[in-house]
Amino acid sequence: MEKTTIAIHKGTLKDSKTGGINTPVYTSSAYNYINKDDTCYPRYFNIPNQDAVGKKIAALEHAETGLVFSSGMGAMSTSILAYAGSGDHVVMLDALYGGTHHFATQWFSHFGIDCTFTGTSAEDVIKAVIPETRVIVIESPTNPLLAVVDIEKIAQFAKKNKITTIIDNTFASPVNQTPLDLGIDIVIHSGTKYLGGHSDLCCGMVACSHEKMEKILSLARVLGPSLDPRICSLLERSMKTLVLRVNAQTQNAMEVAEFLENHPAISKVYYPGLESFKGYEIAKQQMTGFGAMLSFEIKDKDPDKFIEKLRIVSPAVSLGGVESTICSPALTSHSKMSVQERQRIGVTDSLLRLSIGLEDADDLKQDIDNALKKSVL
Ligand SMILES: *Cc1c(COP(=O)(O)O)cnc(C)c1O
Repeated sequence: MEKTTIAIHKGTLKDSKTGGINTPVYTSSAYNYINKDDTCYPRYFNIPNQDAVGKKIAALEHAETGLVFSSGMGAMSTSILAYAGSGDHVVMLDALYGGTHHFATQWFSHFGIDCTFTGTSAEDVIKAVIPETRVIVIESPTNPLLAVVDIEKIAQFAKKNKITTIIDNTFASPVNQTPLDLGIDIVIHSGTKYLGGHSDLCCGMVACSHEKMEKILSLARVLGPSLDPRICSLLERSMKTLVLRVNAQTQNAMEVAEFLENHPAISKVYYPGLESFKGYEIAKQQMTGFGAMLSFEIKDKDPDKFIEKLRIVSPAVSLGGVESTICSPALTSHSKMSVQERQRIGVTDSLLRLSIGLEDADDLKQDIDNALKKSVL
């Protein structure tokens, strides 16, 4: 089956009682235990609504099994802790999502876990591995500079050395990238972004083999980051249009990226789909589409005034919704970094990150062009 069909049909539990074609919402938090091996309970991650979306993400990611969490961070922290413990070492990209980075710097020592942060090249990651390394955590493309990481090279190295690999696949979504096919062990999503897609719910997902899921599920059942069945139902509805949405958003992003690249007020565009972009060649090999996230730098204009003058694109921190949003990484995700540190990694004050939505591409280009005209220093 193609992804478009999978997204609509996979996992649906048709209502045998009424013939309804959607998964009914199971609202109970108390279930009969007589003659049941695994009694249903929301925190056990075994309610039919949780199962329905879990099956959908598994099929989309070419995984044996999937699990829904109450947030992307719930999925990420549980998965890392399932495979790294006291005395273990973890290798992570410098450029990982801020929450994951924060989890490592603030909490790993509490669990006795040691961590090395690296650059985004496969060589950087491999160089950081030591005999105690148990887990490698990567993300591609990264936030906000869209660096493209050579997933297969890292996955193959890790396999040979029996290291568990985790990738945050939020930015690409399963529509544009399926990392398990490249040898990665565990895929994580912030479902708050493309999977939910309408900026109205918070959830996370994990997709992997049955074997890898065992520990993750066991830990998740005691940590407890489960998603309410009512929200699972909303997520299930959203995921049915995932492929259509992401494909259209990706196409829009390509148009906007090309428009920005040729705009005199823009000095640099970061988008894996531009041939001029550093990560283009690897992106072309490992992605089926280049995604709908892009960043750019404006020159001789006031970035704050620019954002204020936008009429369609809204300033907001999250991403992946049907509505286009923009944010300044220096003022949001990277605000706690020193100016020097930000400069070093390329997050300048004039860098802006765009999440391209489903609006008409010409309207988006016009909105950006108008706002640029009105944002003279
Ligand atoms: C938002 C985000 C997360 C965290 O997800 P939550 O649902 O907010 O917990 C993790 N990784 C990436 C890339 C994200 O954008």
